[in-house]
Amino acid sequence: MNIVVCTKQVPDTAATLKVDEQSNVSWGDAPLVINPWDEYAIEEAIRLKEKHGGKVTVLSVGPEQAREALKQAVAMGCDDAILVWDASLDGSDTLATSYILAQAIKKIGSVDVVLFGKQAIDGDTGLIQGGVARRLGWPLLSFVAKIEELDPAAKSIKVNRLLEQGRQAVTSQLPVVISVVKEINEPRYPSFMNIRKASKLQIPVWDSGAISVEAGKVGRANAATKWTRVFPLPARTGSVEIITGDSPQAIASALADKLMAEKII
Ligand SMILES: Cc1cc2nc3c(=O)[nH]c(=O)nc-3n(C[C@H](O)[C@H](O)[C@H](O)COP(=O)(O)OP(=O)(O)OC[C@H]3O[C@@H](n4cnc5c(N)ncnc54)[C@H](O)[C@@H]3O)c2cc1C
Repeated sequence: MNIVVCTKQVPDTAATLKVDEQSNVSWGDAPLVINPWDEYAIEEAIRLKEKHGGKVTVLSVGPEQAREALKQAVAMGCDDAILVWDASLDGSDTLATSYILAQAIKKIGSVDVVLFGKQAIDGDTGLIQGGVARRLGWPLLSFVAKIEELDPAAKSIKVNRLLEQGRQAVTSQLPVVISVVKEINEPRYPSFMNIRKASKLQIPVWDSGAISVEAGKVGRANAATKWTRVFPLPARTGSVEIITGDSPQAIASALADKLMAEKII
């Protein structure tokens, strides 16, 4: 089994987005982490390898600092890591990012399964997996909560998708693109052995030439999506009044009077 898991480095969940009047967007000095939803995809990739044999490669499109996210995935148990980046890729939108990832997956070659988290916690579009599947011409099994069966010899897979209406069983032929939800597993902690391996691992950087990316399809200038205006929301206004009284009944009665006076009830 040749498994690829894609991950994006994102700001920590506690980070606050700052937008200035010139539409400059920044996460400040927020620590960067592996996209939390991707930890479930990484765990599932490792479990598939443990069950069926083979290799897990973790892949990220991002600047040099994204190397840390890749190392974390290797510390969890991925075998190999590839960073895809050069300056021409900066400012790529979702359409371009999925094209870049698909080109890298083609270069890896003979891939059976590509795994993603359900979305990135910063961009939040949940579009990349669909874009990658479309580019590769492979089926997309999204919101997967369980891999029921995988038969490497027959090149077939049966999964359980978690939908609002309930669960849906889907079968497909490999190769396939999968996005997972958090119900699928409990991600493991990095092991001491794998942390050592990750710290020594030489992670190759593939530039756009290495994966035959056409310059006119990537980067800020070629983005189909333009951020025309990004602006900070007005600060919230309001005040708090603590209602006091001699008894819970008196406090409740005073609260009800105020709500009626404001025509809320
Ligand atoms: C430096 C930089 C500049 C940018 N400039 C622009 C811009 O000018 N215009 C614009 O429209 N957008 C821009 N973006 C946003 C960029 O297009 C999105 O971050 C990207 O398309 C992913 O979309 P998403 O965050 O919604 O991921 P989702 O679609 O929500 O993520 C789905 C899955 O794909 C994985 N994934 C997402 N991105 C990557 C990746 N890079 N490598 C590996 N896996 C990935 C996620 O981890 C998740 O598992 C920029 C991003 C960066 C980092």
